[in-house]
Amino acid sequence: MSRRRQIYEGKAKILYEGPEPGTIIQYFKDDATAFNAQKRGTINGKGVINNRISEYVFTQLQHIGIPTHFVRRLNMREQLVRQVEIVPVEVIVRNVAAGSICKRLGLTEGDPLPHTLIEYCYKDDDLGDPLIAEEHIACFNWASADEMQDISSMAIRINDFMCGMFAAIGIRLVDFKLEFGRLFEGDYSRIILADEISPDGCRLWDLESNEKLDKDRFRRDLGGEVEAYQEVARRLGLLPEDSAANEVVDLDSQRKKRGK
Ligand code: UDP
Repeated sequence: MSRRRQIYEGKAKILYEGPEPGTIIQYFKDDATAFNAQKRGTINGKGVINNRISEYVFTQLQHIGIPTHFVRRLNMREQLVRQVEIVPVEVIVRNVAAGSICKRLGLTEGDPLPHTLIEYCYKDDDLGDPLIAEEHIACFNWASADEMQDISSMAIRINDFMCGMFAAIGIRLVDFKLEFGRLFEGDYSRIILADEISPDGCRLWDLESNEKLDKDRFRRDLGGEVEAYQEVARRLGLLPEDSAANEVVDLDSQRKKRGK
């Protein structure tokens, strides 16, 4: 690993040069940050779980025809992906009011939105990823009109698919963040889904109890982060029922106590 060239280190991942040109290795760390990295911590084993969850979700999305950068998982913490030029826009998809939109618009957390809402943020940590309009994206040429058409239609399809996937395992998909990249093929480029999809970048609530099964446990000091991430992986069928039994027993017994 030490001989590999590191390309970039982010808050939750490290990117290394891949084995062939045009490939990259994504290494998932246990580091967690919130509030634009003002809060920092570690969630033990998070990288391993996010690697598995993201592999699963990207593979499912590929099955419904969403082009993604995912090639294959290499080991517990690494996956091989295709190198793309990341579009500097974070795409936020919201089904239920939570997080920053509540503060911004005075909404109550948990209120369903009249319909699915897509928001865009400019990807710039120094500026705190400010909310932007499509007009900014066009004005500053961060993505073309055609690219935005692909991005928004993929975001809606991904949301539809993921809402169903999570509902089937008793989880409400409240909101999530997507990143897209340009894959260059000769003189042309096309937009594909990049980055990761995991409880780090999604709000996932238990359908019955509304218990949070995502990074809000860390953001809000609720505790039980590892157990919550494991619970999502377990329900997706990515952990053998008994391997995580010790860790999820608390959540399960709490639920049983509540008679659910
Ligand atoms: N999100 C993310 N990275 C970001 C900003 C947001 O993964 O830099 C995710 C976040 O986990 C949530 C959704 O996008 O699922 C909406 O986040 P929001 O705008 O409410 O901001 P937050 O409350 O997370 O600061």
